[in-house]
Amino acid sequence: MLGPVILAASRSDRMRRLISAAPVTKQVVDRFIPGETVDDILPVVKELTGKGLEMTLDVVGEDITTPGQAAAARDAYLELIDRLEPLELGTRAEMSVKLSMFGQALPGGHDLALANVRPVVEAAAEIGTTVTLDAEDHTTLDSMFAIHEELRKDFPQTGCVIQSYLYRTEQDARRLAANGSRVRLVKGAYKEPAEVAYQQKHEIDKAYVRILRTLMEGEGYPMIGSHDPRLITIAQELARRAGRKPGEYEFQMLYGIRSDEHLRLAAEGHRMRVYTAYGTDWYGYFMRRLAEKPANLRFFVRSMVSK
Ligand code: FAD
Repeated sequence: MLGPVILAASRSDRMRRLISAAPVTKQVVDRFIPGETVDDILPVVKELTGKGLEMTLDVVGEDITTPGQAAAARDAYLELIDRLEPLELGTRAEMSVKLSMFGQALPGGHDLALANVRPVVEAAAEIGTTVTLDAEDHTTLDSMFAIHEELRKDFPQTGCVIQSYLYRTEQDARRLAANGSRVRLVKGAYKEPAEVAYQQKHEIDKAYVRILRTLMEGEGYPMIGSHDPRLITIAQELARRAGRKPGEYEFQMLYGIRSDEHLRLAAEGHRMRVYTAYGTDWYGYFMRRLAEKPANLRFFVRSMVSK
């Protein structure tokens, strides 16, 4: 019940100002977003990759309003890639990007986002790693898939994300599985209407399994973006049935969520990638994490009250 209210608040400027200014917010935010700068995040990269985990790094930010902000987002990723180069991690540290941060919603935004994201994908390829395009709300997805297809002409390893709560996704999955893409499957984190998305958890979970089967049986590289223990077990069974070995698919989870499970799966020989966000514009990302689990909200409110 609380989830949709929090997701609505995640788009409210007034709530953004209130919550960002609250003095105790930071310590709760740190659980999910372990830093604001590249200098903060590099020790985290070293620590997690040292434990046998892989990473996908997200410079937080979305819904920007000027082309200058979009260029700044591009430059933030270029700086990150520059600083990753000496670590020689290859695909063990890749990048996740939100096209809204690259200007997708501005006038002429499709071309602007493509122009801004291309140098990031090029720079990532130069240091031997990849970029995955995150999925945002459903109105942005046709543009995201077109940009994905365009980038794959030169950089076939560019990945994208699909969301099992959307009705359209089974069809998207069939297309992406046939053309051999790297695809992260998630349940979906935005507030979507019943015209386009399942609303019930059991429907979203059932769709997840159907879509994952398509990806596992296809030509691409499936990336299982979920913390759900039942889906993790099902994914391993679907991989086995499709004749895929560990390394021919991977698990992905968010930094700060079920961290013991990250290590357990890696110790079992699975590729386990931790999605790690950093930066100053953390509000939207943080609010979606609160919406996913009411206990996070209780923890947040308790920290505010106990101050
Ligand atoms: P759930 O059924 O929500 O959770 C299963 C269990 O995981 C819960 O019972 C709980 O124990 C734990 N858990 C889940 N979420 C939390 C949380 N926030 N805090 C604490 N515990 C939690 N969504 C998009 O729309 N676009 C994207 O591009 C995108 N990228 C993602 C990348 C990765 C690597 C991951 C893991 C998720 C991503 N998501 C994205 C978010 C996703 O859509 C879900 O909202 C989120 O993963 C919660 O769904 P779940 O599959 O973990 O299952």
